[in-house]
Amino acid sequence: MTYNLDPELQQPIRDMMREFCPKEIEPLGLKHDREPDSFAHDIFQKLAAKGLVGFVMPKDYGGGGRKKLEYATMIEELSYFDPPSSLLSAVSQLAVDPIMNFGTPEQKQKWLPKSATGELIPAFALTEPNAGSDAANQALTIKDDGDHYVINGEKIFIMHGDVCHFAVTFGRLASDTSERPRVSAIIVPADAEGFKGFTLQHKMGMKYATTGRIEYKDVKVPKENFLGEPGKGFKMAMITLDGARIGIAAQSVGIAQRALDESIKYAKERIAFGAPIGKLQAIQWMIADMATKVEAARLLTYKAAQLQDKGESINLAASQAKLFASEASKFCVDRAMQIHSGYGYIGEFSVVEKLYRDQRVTEIYEGTSEIQRLVIAGNMLRK
Ligand SMILES: Cc1cc2nc3c(=O)[nH]c(=O)nc-3n(C[C@H](O)[C@H](O)[C@H](O)COP(=O)(O)OP(=O)(O)OC[C@H]3O[C@@H](n4cnc5c(N)ncnc54)[C@H](O)[C@@H]3O)c2cc1C
Repeated sequence: MTYNLDPELQQPIRDMMREFCPKEIEPLGLKHDREPDSFAHDIFQKLAAKGLVGFVMPKDYGGGGRKKLEYATMIEELSYFDPPSSLLSAVSQLAVDPIMNFGTPEQKQKWLPKSATGELIPAFALTEPNAGSDAANQALTIKDDGDHYVINGEKIFIMHGDVCHFAVTFGRLASDTSERPRVSAIIVPADAEGFKGFTLQHKMGMKYATTGRIEYKDVKVPKENFLGEPGKGFKMAMITLDGARIGIAAQSVGIAQRALDESIKYAKERIAFGAPIGKLQAIQWMIADMATKVEAARLLTYKAAQLQDKGESINLAASQAKLFASEASKFCVDRAMQIHSGYGYIGEFSVVEKLYRDQRVTEIYEGTSEIQRLVIAGNMLRK
């Protein structure tokens, strides 16, 4: 187990991101953040052109074929410079993951290469108005109608659901009339008649990696788009989310590290009572706590990524990494705000205000902190 940077694997990625992001990504992010919520096509295309959208997608299907540890490093760095950009990349990976893992060769050939290059924007559509944490409570119906399926229902809080070209959509088979129907999955093209995506406005942070609501009204989908085995969709979704949680943990580490670095810089510059505030023990303690949490969060994240690379079970490790890193990032943005005080609260003066808003959702999406605790406790009690 590598407990910190693996020079051969991770350092080139860090170097590349530190060269690329401050020039090409961060300024665009700051501009988009001040505009009404709309998808940052310009950033997405820059990321895709640099190979950061198809980073871990298989080489055979046009992706970079990178390992999870490399992916975690890339997402951490991207998030350090611009958290929403890390989401723009991570969502494509989340959405194609079920196709990578459970799709037929034909489905992979059809949907992966163009997703890897950013020509297609995919979405992962699991959550419904009445199926959030209780994701198995799907109301959307997938009805077998001869030579095609017909989809009816609604999805909410779907990343890129407003701009996607296709949505990996979870639902229940209309023929399953049991009280708790089993979940299935199907790839729904966004240009099919009856599919409509809407941008959800006034999001607190991560504004230009947009979140949508999708309506499906009698959407006809070819039979070949059915994904995996009927009734196995919940398992597919949970396996996908296990892997994706490592990405959110890495995103959180990037945010936390940025909050720490901004705080150290400011503590050395800001003079109060005739000396830099970094001389004050009250400020030193905040920085010490931040630095310790960042490091612990990073270690948990790398551990989970390495377990996935080794093909071991990540259910526990991914939840621990996501839970700890997202809460550590909240701690760090909060302390960064306190250290910057007035100059942190007003976005004109520092990035701390934006970091504070972008951070909050890391504790909500891909399973809330409460759900992560359920997963961790379940693992402990099963032992
Ligand atoms: C910006 C954003 C992007 C998102 N992107 C996607 C996406 O791309 N695709 C997708 O499918 N979904 C997406 N989601 C949905 C996200 O995964 C859900 O919001 C999340 O799972 C919580 O569901 P909920 O909001 O319905 O809250 P609820 O499930 O209603 O939970 C409300 C509260 O109750 C708690 N709670 C619920 N059940 C339990 C329990 N058993 N034990 C303890 N506490 C519990 C929760 O932790 C929470 O505090 C996104 C959400 C946001 C905000």
